[in-house]
Amino acid sequence: MNRLEQLQRKFPHIPRSIILKTDVTRLGIRHSPALSQAGAWASPQTLIIFDRDHEEPAPRKSLTTEGWVSLPQEMHLQDSSLVGLSLDSRSPYQVVEGEGRYLLCLGEESVDEVSFDLMPRWYHQRTRSGALMSTVGAVCGDLFATLTTNHCQYFNTGEQCRFCCINPTTTRSQELGIGRTITRAMEDVVETFTAACAEGNIGHYVITGGSFVDRRKEGATYQRFASALANVASRFGNIPGVVFSQALEEEDMRRIHEMGAGNLEVCFPLEVWDERVFERVCPGKARYVGRKTWLDSLLKAVDIFGAGKVICQFIVGSEVMPGYGFASWEGGMKSTLEGMEWMMERGIIPIANMVRAAKGTLFEEIEPPPTEYFLALDWERHQLMVKYNMPAPRSRCRGCRPNACEYDYVHLLTSPAL
Ligand code: SF4
Repeated sequence: MNRLEQLQRKFPHIPRSIILKTDVTRLGIRHSPALSQAGAWASPQTLIIFDRDHEEPAPRKSLTTEGWVSLPQEMHLQDSSLVGLSLDSRSPYQVVEGEGRYLLCLGEESVDEVSFDLMPRWYHQRTRSGALMSTVGAVCGDLFATLTTNHCQYFNTGEQCRFCCINPTTTRSQELGIGRTITRAMEDVVETFTAACAEGNIGHYVITGGSFVDRRKEGATYQRFASALANVASRFGNIPGVVFSQALEEEDMRRIHEMGAGNLEVCFPLEVWDERVFERVCPGKARYVGRKTWLDSLLKAVDIFGAGKVICQFIVGSEVMPGYGFASWEGGMKSTLEGMEWMMERGIIPIANMVRAAKGTLFEEIEPPPTEYFLALDWERHQLMVKYNMPAPRSRCRGCRPNACEYDYVHLLTSPAL
């Protein structure tokens, strides 16, 4: 019996594709010639914010151009579940090509047929100032993403979140030859978002970026971006978006809400629920914002944006990373679920990204918990979502969540409550 079948036996209530997606997300995937081949035309790694690979595959430098690394960023399973590709030579998974089909193999055994999205045409276009558009924005499925800044000030003092690699990714992408700047002109952002929307495959957008020690400056920056992008979104059928930032001040939230005219949500990622673990895993956020202020901001955001339009991300698994979190998986899971339930009781939607030992993070050399941990926790999260009749956020969908399974649960279990 292979490991996928063993997992299916342990979690018979969870759809097979969620088990497979979770396992591939946890273990990564080995580089193979098929990936380089598909990278010639598939939606590529742009390193827009995070390098998801655990390690750099040998040919990456030779596969990098001014705009991207010619390796696919995500793949679809046969049932269309979107799975992020994080390269790791230790993984038992790889993609092989044969007779025009791509197969996901566990060891030598094929476990699914996979496909890749085409590279957007606008990745090849330039703005009037000469910026290659793929260095200004990028897609993840049907999500358009752009950043206020590719630099987080918490790295300056070593207080960055332990799972984060935003600054090392910026440096690495520049070393590889990608022409990304730390900040970008608003005209470039507007032109790029307009070109992406005009091509017709954008269902949502996100404005995010590194954190500022001064949250008022951060809030002002997000206001500028929200105003400009919401204006473009309104010309293409009011595409919903999300501001994914630190917990903002009330005045900034009110302005962003007005600018979005009902089509903007906010996500303030607390990342970890337990107070002491939060201080260890997110020391910058803990010191400069503080957990209480963060939670108060989330509650205020519900007053302003409405229940179901405020999101809080958890980096699930951080709570049990050795040296940082709970010693027992039971303790970590209980704490995270308690935090998620606290959110749901107050109209805040918790989303769950799996922690990874990505290159450039302080977790790089630490082994995350096994797939079983993520499956067990995410199943319980879904049960809470059903119990509280929580809606899914408008600003995301199943086609743009490659490292999380919220929408896969909703789609595959077709719960009448969601
Ligand atoms: S606040 Fe944390 S997660 Fe956000 S950019 Fe900075 S280090 Fe990364």
